[in-house]
Amino acid sequence: MCMQSLNRIEISRSALIHNFQICQRWADGAAIMPLVKADGYGHGMIDCARVFADQGAAAFGVAEAIEGVRLREAGITQPVLVLAGVMPLTLPLIVAARLTPVVSDPAILTELSSVAAGQSASVGVHLKLDAGMGRQGALPADFAELLDLARRLPHLRLDGVMAHFPLSDDRTSANSAEVLRTFMAATAPLADHGAGKCCLHLANSGGLFYVAGARLDMVRPGIALYGYYPDGAAGRVTAVPPPLRPAMRFASRIIQVRRLPEGRGLGYWHLFTTARPSVIAVLPVGYANGYLRNLSNRAQVLINGRRAPVVGRVSMNLTLVDVTDLPKVRVGDEAVLLGSQGEETITADEIADWMETISYEVLCLFGQLNERVLVD
Ligand SMILES: *Cc1c(COP(=O)(O)O)cnc(C)c1O
Repeated sequence: MCMQSLNRIEISRSALIHNFQICQRWADGAAIMPLVKADGYGHGMIDCARVFADQGAAAFGVAEAIEGVRLREAGITQPVLVLAGVMPLTLPLIVAARLTPVVSDPAILTELSSVAAGQSASVGVHLKLDAGMGRQGALPADFAELLDLARRLPHLRLDGVMAHFPLSDDRTSANSAEVLRTFMAATAPLADHGAGKCCLHLANSGGLFYVAGARLDMVRPGIALYGYYPDGAAGRVTAVPPPLRPAMRFASRIIQVRRLPEGRGLGYWHLFTTARPSVIAVLPVGYANGYLRNLSNRAQVLINGRRAPVVGRVSMNLTLVDVTDLPKVRVGDEAVLLGSQGEETITADEIADWMETISYEVLCLFGQLNERVLVD
């Protein structure tokens, strides 16, 4: 009895390990904080965190406090930095779950100190500087005051200072060097206070691979750990070997093989009309699975180790593939939407081009909308 979806996401443990080790090599002694937000970019937050913890991850990064709570419940003991959603409403949970809030606002620091006092706890905090990202973080002009407050308030321990790069995936941009300079200038006063080991961290995957001098005490790779370059296919082409290995594979099954005459309109709006007698394979996958509607008449899938074009509208749960040129396609054959089959590979960068987005979004969508298994 088949008790599984016909669509499945396979996550390769050995690829995750390989990628962690590549990042470690680049980190050159800096600690590694894997970003496991968005359910590990769709790869499964808890499985990934366990794999990375075994490899020596120093900390983890999540977006919201509730994700950090799930990591704690799964037995993760490393510091867990909460990068978004640190606000009065979430502070009690952050303190209770021994999470590490990233704070950029003096009012939140003050509130955090009193919540910690209420729980008789001492809370490690990381401060965020807006060194050019323009999203969160204290502006450089306000940073000294924030730093001073973090040092003075009771029940708080200043464990780290961070900023984020807006353009580290663009190797030609001068912006990253400027962000690094701004960060170093704002954190220079910390060097005079020998007291603490305050962890400075700035580099995402782009910062790790492409920005000289950005590794500092800790690096924060996300996409690289899942096997992709922040600058997409270009990054893979120019990568220093060995390359990162994509960890996600998305496979479906052919549920029907139809022989159709010339001149038949296929699916909604007859977006495709057969121009010859055709063999059309039907897949039980669609935009509900993250296989977005703009892949209609545009994407390719792998069947029996060969590429075949998606024809007609991708609908909620059905996609059609023209397999006229493929030898003997049968009901039950595997169709690979992402990943390798035989000698052929479809990467998330390629799908991202078809979807007019970036690999990050493809991985989040596929991984979070389908049944997932950890393999090898
Ligand atoms: C998501 C995130 C990262 C990881 O970025 P990648 O480009 O996936 O390596 C690093 N730092 C912060 C603050 C993030 O939000």
